[in-house]
This record gives sequence, structure tokens and C-alpha cells, in this order.
Amino acid sequence: MSALLPTYARSELSFARGEGAYLYTTTGERYLDFASGVAVTALGHAHPHLVKALTEQAKKLWHVSNLHQIPEQARLAERLTDATFANYVFFANSGAEAVECAIKAARRYHFKNGAPERYRVITFEGAFHGRTLATIAAGGQAKHLEGFGPPTDGFDQIEAGDIKKVKAVIGEVTAGVLIEPIMGEGGMREISWRFLQDLRALCDDEGILLLLDEVQTGMGRTGRLFAHEWAGITPDIMATAKGLGGGFPVGACLMTEAVGSAMTAGSHGSTFGGNPLAMAVGNAVLDIVLEDGFLDHVAQMGLRLKQRLAALKNEHGEIIEEVRGQGLMLGLKCKVSNVKLLKALRAEKMLTVQAGDNVIRLLPPLIVGEAEIDLACTKLDAACVALKSGALADA
Ligand SMILES: *Cc1c(COP(=O)(O)O)cnc(C)c1O
Repeated sequence: MSALLPTYARSELSFARGEGAYLYTTTGERYLDFASGVAVTALGHAHPHLVKALTEQAKKLWHVSNLHQIPEQARLAERLTDATFANYVFFANSGAEAVECAIKAARRYHFKNGAPERYRVITFEGAFHGRTLATIAAGGQAKHLEGFGPPTDGFDQIEAGDIKKVKAVIGEVTAGVLIEPIMGEGGMREISWRFLQDLRALCDDEGILLLLDEVQTGMGRTGRLFAHEWAGITPDIMATAKGLGGGFPVGACLMTEAVGSAMTAGSHGSTFGGNPLAMAVGNAVLDIVLEDGFLDHVAQMGLRLKQRLAALKNEHGEIIEEVRGQGLMLGLKCKVSNVKLLKALRAEKMLTVQAGDNVIRLLPPLIVGEAEIDLACTKLDAACVALKSGALADA
């Protein structure tokens, strides 16, 4: 019996090391990693530039409290604001913490602007925002809320896609609207650019805030630095995390001048947030993601993969129902159980992640090349063939 709290359905696999898009088990077997943790190791495993940044920082300084200046933190904040809509950044250690900061900042903005009654946030069915008490309430999924008492107050959940429904639910107590540009955990469900544009306009009309959860879609995953850029809009507040540290835990909440100036000394904080190790790695990740041509590479590889997946869908229509997503954040809606396909792929030594709505997520590292995309498709084809032949009927 394991002493670990049984909160995860773990596979038997145990990895000893990784390199680029590959992971090697403790027994030396090579797996193609199209999961990247879950969209975390954005630059692949053991990227030399990241290894160097982390080890050099490790020799100098690991931790100082936020009671002092942390130059690398200020630098990363400045680079993130230069590259986005934002004027301020708060650093946290995870996605859920970044979303919590976003929710707090939205409430605080209205509090400071004479409308403290505006504390409720509108969220959408199928959303995922993390596992803290507030973020499970925001996500609103029964399976995450069960057994944990009354959901944290302050969220109104509706179906995504219909702007009239959003307008109908906005009231005197509404602080803002929170949405993922592509619902990752929820099954790679794409939110239309039009809906995001309509949300932006509606929030402006109503004097409420647009909060984006780009924890998974951010840091280049969709082929733009942040997914909202595709829609040509900007949020008031945005949470990001996963890819930002390339595997080192870090989250960030970005916000406009108007929102950020409502947060004052003592209004929010984190012991570990923005520590020198995380900041050294975050800056190193940005060095690469902001390099000329990097995001174009992501978009190109995404297109290639999506085209190949569409061909596989035609070939294996009994298994693959639909190809979804943008850039290197792609999903296969399955006709068979998604777990069966995931296991068939694992038997082909390829890692993917399951998601809601019977979807398999393909989240390769952003540095993936044509050879790995082609190899992934060969493995996918083999997995489908194996599933069809019934060899994995009981998998
Ligand atoms: C993963 C994820 C989170 C939660 O991030 P943690 O680091 O696990 O707290 C929140 N929102 C979205 C969209 C995510 O994909």
C-alpha cells in the first residue's frame, strides 16, 4: 500500500529522465511525450537554456521574501507587461493561485470604485479553474465539488456561446466574467473568437471586468503568446501558469493599470510567489518563446498536426469523431472510450492526456519538430488499428 493520498489515478510508468519531446523510463524505454506534464514542459525536457538558468541561479540564491527587491521578478513582470495588455503582474506558484488572484483583484477593483456589492463572477459550464475552494466553485463541476461542503459563494455559471444568456445573468452584484479561451480540462472546447469579442463589448457596456484563464492556453501554446490575441481582444485580468515555468512551478496574474491600482500593500501576498529560482526559469522560458519565429513555428507545427489528425479521423472514423483545438493544444473527441485510446497510445509508447467530453488531449512541447509530429501520427494510426483489431478490447 502506498503512503500517498490516493487522489490520482496513476499509471505504472516511472520516468528517470527526459530530453526534448522524449521521456525515458527507469528501465530505459523511450516514450514520445505529447502530454508535456499537462501542458507544462513547454520547451520539452531538459532544455539546455532552462537547465543553465536554473542551475546558475541555484548556486546564487534560492529564496528571499517579498519584503525585499527581487530584480529577476521585476524583470519578468516588465517583460510580460511589455508583451501583453497588462501593466501589473502578481507572481504565484500555480494556476489555481493565479486564478484566485484574478478573482480577488476583480472584487477589489469594484470595492475601490465604490461598488463593493459587485463581487460575483460569471463562469461557464465545462470550465476548469483549479482545485482550491474558490476555484472549484468557479469551475462548477459536480465531481470536483462533491463532499467539500457548500460551494464558495460568488459564482454564477451558465452555458458558453450565447451572449444573450450572459447579458441576462449580469446584475447589480456582478464583478466580471471568467472564461478559458479554449476549455482544456473540459475537452479542448474552443470558445469562438466572436463570443470572446462579444464578451469584451458586453463587459465594457456593463462596467464589469473580463477575466481570462490562460493557465493552459498561454505562453505560446496556441501559436500566439496568449490565445486571446487570436480574437483581437484584451482582458482586464488574466491568469497564466503551466508553460510559464517550463516545468518549474510558477503562476502569474496579469492586470491592467485600472485593476492593479486597486491592490495595495498587504492586500494580497504569497510566501513563495516570485522566488528567484522560478523567476530565473520564467525569464529563460520567455527568452525562447519571444525569439523571432518561435510562435510561427508553434502555429506551423500545430497546423501540420491538425491536418494529419484530420486524415487519421477520416481513416479511423469509428474511433475518432472530431479534431479540436488551436496550435499545439489539440484534442481528439473519441467514439470509443477516451481511456481506451489513451491506453492504446501508451502501448505504442506515446503519452497523451484525457479530458472531459470523452477527449484525448495532444499537448506536445512547443519545440516539437516535423519528425516527432509524424512519429506521433504513426503511433496514433497503430493505436487505432490495434483498437479496431480488438487486441485492446479489455484495455
Ligand atoms: C491546470 C489549470 C488550472 C489549475 O492550475 P494548477 O497549477 O493545477 O493549480 C487552472 N485553469 C486552467 C485553465 C488549467 O488548465
